[in-house]
Amino acid sequence: MPAKLVTSLALIGACVASHMAHSQDPLPRKLKGEQVPLVIAHRGASGYLPEHSQGAKVLAYAQGADILEQDVVLSRDGVFVVAHDITLDKTTDVADWYPDRKRADGHYYYADFDWAELRQLSLVARELSAEEQSGRFQQKYDQRMVRLDDEIRFIQELNRLFHKNVGLHIELKAPAFHRQEFGGYMSERLMPILNEFGYRSDRDLCFIQCFEFEELRYLRQNLNCRLQLIQLIGGSPMMLTEPPSAGGEEKMSRTAWVARIISQLPALAEIVNGIGPSLELVAEIQQDGSIRSCGLVEAAHAMQLCVHPYTVRADGLPTWASSLDQLHHWLFEELQVDGLFTDFPDLSLAYRGQRQRQ
Ligand code: CA
Repeated sequence: MPAKLVTSLALIGACVASHMAHSQDPLPRKLKGEQVPLVIAHRGASGYLPEHSQGAKVLAYAQGADILEQDVVLSRDGVFVVAHDITLDKTTDVADWYPDRKRADGHYYYADFDWAELRQLSLVARELSAEEQSGRFQQKYDQRMVRLDDEIRFIQELNRLFHKNVGLHIELKAPAFHRQEFGGYMSERLMPILNEFGYRSDRDLCFIQCFEFEELRYLRQNLNCRLQLIQLIGGSPMMLTEPPSAGGEEKMSRTAWVARIISQLPALAEIVNGIGPSLELVAEIQQDGSIRSCGLVEAAHAMQLCVHPYTVRADGLPTWASSLDQLHHWLFEELQVDGLFTDFPDLSLAYRGQRQRQ
């Protein structure tokens, strides 16, 4: 199916879905003190259309996601671009346009290109596993990457048209790398943009997430940011109080790593509102085949931290789950997470909707 047609269908879908949603109760929210977990569209509806394309965002909006995620990196001239990697190789056709602009390590970096150059590139679907290939969009996608300010304008305009309040979940990618390249914190450039668009307090549906604690600390303590901050936590050990070292992380069992994260929650809670752990850190399978919680979600909740685990994929389940239904059951009902990142917002919303009706 041609990409432009897909986008058109997604836009039509947005209109239909939004009119349907508008005729029902307002969408549930789970900010502090509220009870329904947020469905966060991970890079858009990226299980269907190439990540961070406008099509993927429109489709997620049409499906009824509560929040759309933005990963952000900086172009050479300081524009926030919505992209997951700091390099262009895997998701654009940059090599066709600029064969001579790669660095000695063989990669093309956003930081080496101005926005005027980046906007010419086409998005390309990331290479997929055999399982993923069957269900995901395969073609070169005739769409351009998006600036953060344009994406916010786009979401706010859809919200205005459809009387909705779909929110943002912005991940600052590789802040230590950006400090090296640009000589300052990404947050200093981000906050004026968010303020301009009206996101200022922890009641606004705009989260900022990051793997590097130092950037979150700077946001809270140096910039006095009042937005909800989420510390992302990966499946392998890294120091939360410092930027991760280059490959020097010690090997540690999952149990020991979870225990270490739990021991650091009091310090984290001084700065952040919540954590975003990998799915591998929230539950595990036991020898008899049953699933049990790793204790992290409960420990975070005891510290008044919200929990937004990543990433629900119909075609890539965590080691402890044997079906998407089982994964959703554990996240929504057993662990009672506050939100979840999903490549398939429609499937996560369908599960949540079924349970609410029971
Ligand atoms: Ca992300």
